[in-house]
Amino acid sequence: MSRPLELDRYTTATLSAALDDARRAGRPAAVLWPVGSTEPHGPHLPLCTDVKLAEENARRSALWLRAEGVFAVIAPSLPYGVTDFAEGFAGAISIPAAVLVGLLTAAADRFIADGFDHVCLVNHHLEPGQIDALTTARDAIRARHGAHAASFPKVVSRRWGARLGDEFKSGACHAGRYEGSLMLASVPHMVDMQTARALPPLDISLSKAIADGTPGFIAAGMGQAYTGDPAAASAMEGDLLYAVLAEMVVTEVREALAALLEASAERSVEQSTERPAEQTIETPAPDDADPSGKQPGDPAR
Ligand SMILES: [Zn+2]
Repeated sequence: MSRPLELDRYTTATLSAALDDARRAGRPAAVLWPVGSTEPHGPHLPLCTDVKLAEENARRSALWLRAEGVFAVIAPSLPYGVTDFAEGFAGAISIPAAVLVGLLTAAADRFIADGFDHVCLVNHHLEPGQIDALTTARDAIRARHGAHAASFPKVVSRRWGARLGDEFKSGACHAGRYEGSLMLASVPHMVDMQTARALPPLDISLSKAIADGTPGFIAAGMGQAYTGDPAAASAMEGDLLYAVLAEMVVTEVREALAALLEASAERSVEQSTERPAEQTIETPAPDDADPSGKQPGDPAR
């Protein structure tokens, strides 16, 4: 059976069959949901930049999760979020936080009713109002369906943000080198590099501006809705960044699903012990075992 990565490419029958197969095989089923914003990203990147980043991250993460035995699919993207900071620019389509939370939790109820175990919110729009709304939605999904049922990996957390380059860490990172590189590595036809190369670098830290109570891009001095160094973006850097971002999503989904994955591993051990004797797999002698208990290939934590 073909199993597309995108949820909306299934029919009712093929989705039900894929979920039944996963359940029978003891494989958890997870929805990765790209959520983002429609908002200005300088004169060189489109309004859909945050959505495109979330979609590419979800795609790479879904492939990785499938390789680890999780039946992962990507939900249709949600392109609207809390985008008050970009007010004053055409194309900044903000919605109230309560609307966003209501939509996310209502749809998550349906994903879980259909047989998915987990909903992961994949987000690259970093405005505090958006982060707060998604955190509220994640907590509401967990309260209704259990701690394993939702995750919201945060790009701005210390755990992951520290690995996303100097520009990101400085906070001067809206439509600059960081986001431009991610766009070049996924949808290069959407990047106007000729315009980007002519933009002077700006050192306006958005995180500092927000902490200081600055109301928006314009008041922060970002008259073209960018900060950072758009001219320095490269596809190679974007690929390296996506490796970290996909590791973030996969790790946090894996952590949320740990209990379910353990149960499925136990089931497969039980099944393997039911095989005929000539098919059993040799296990290493105790002397060969790593005293740390760590398996080869275990990712560093
Ligand atoms: Zn953005």
